[in-house]
Amino acid sequence: MTPDSIYFTRTELDRCANMRDQKQRLKQLKKFKPCHYVPVYLGNHLYLKGEDNFFHSSQPIGSSRDETFLGVLNDELWFSCSIKESEARALEEKHQASFQSLRQYALALDDDQGHIALYSRGMDLWHRRRVFCSICGTKNKAASSGHKMVCENGHEQFPHIEPAVIVLVSDGDKCLLGRKHSWPPNVYSTLAGFVEPGESIEDAVHREVYEESNIRLKNLQYFGSQPWPFPSSLMVAFKAEARSDDIRLDDEMEDVRWFHKDDLIKWVKQGSIILSPRFSVANSLISNFLGQEY
Ligand SMILES: [Zn+2]
Repeated sequence: MTPDSIYFTRTELDRCANMRDQKQRLKQLKKFKPCHYVPVYLGNHLYLKGEDNFFHSSQPIGSSRDETFLGVLNDELWFSCSIKESEARALEEKHQASFQSLRQYALALDDDQGHIALYSRGMDLWHRRRVFCSICGTKNKAASSGHKMVCENGHEQFPHIEPAVIVLVSDGDKCLLGRKHSWPPNVYSTLAGFVEPGESIEDAVHREVYEESNIRLKNLQYFGSQPWPFPSSLMVAFKAEARSDDIRLDDEMEDVRWFHKDDLIKWVKQGSIILSPRFSVANSLISNFLGQEY
């Protein structure tokens, strides 16, 4: 696994950000170009099992006030539509399918579909959480084809993204993985945490690893990033080497351990250790360390 193979980031979709404020042009294009409208309910899509895809329509769905222009793919326009519960239930009934989290079917989607699903999920969740202005509390209205919210007093708000760091710490043939109390049994992953206000991304890596394991780092190396709208993160991934190997746990972690490469491969194959899902950047980091996809 290389940074180029991080899930959800490989796409030919052109976001065409300059078109978001060109209302008339977009209106004209809708008449002449094929359009795809993706209904999204609470961040979830209507997953069509037999087709390995999620439902999208050539016609608008729900109210156009809740429509977001995603961009252009293969000369076709893509929109996401935040729909109401009644609309979601009617679609489920009609297609004999259900709105499901992307986590359930991410691996069934191709690169472009995976990206569109993730992107529309992020926009939908942001719209639902920004019904009111975070400054004055009056009602927000979508602008710029869904990419901006403006309240009655003219306060502008843009999609909210929370950066988080994630890091594979190694010491020769060993890597440092941990698990939180709330995780399912036997699941281990790379250490991660949110960047705090006033803190650089690099400092956040050093702090998080030290807090969760007592390990100090050297040779921090950027690996790649992954949008993670669960609900609104951006994962910034690093590799680093340990300056010490003496682990001490904090309350947040149930366990943090050094895993030798050979043991980890053996235990993952046996199923006694379970890694984060293959579409996560944590899995990309671990697979990169092990030299093969797991
Ligand atoms: Zn306001």
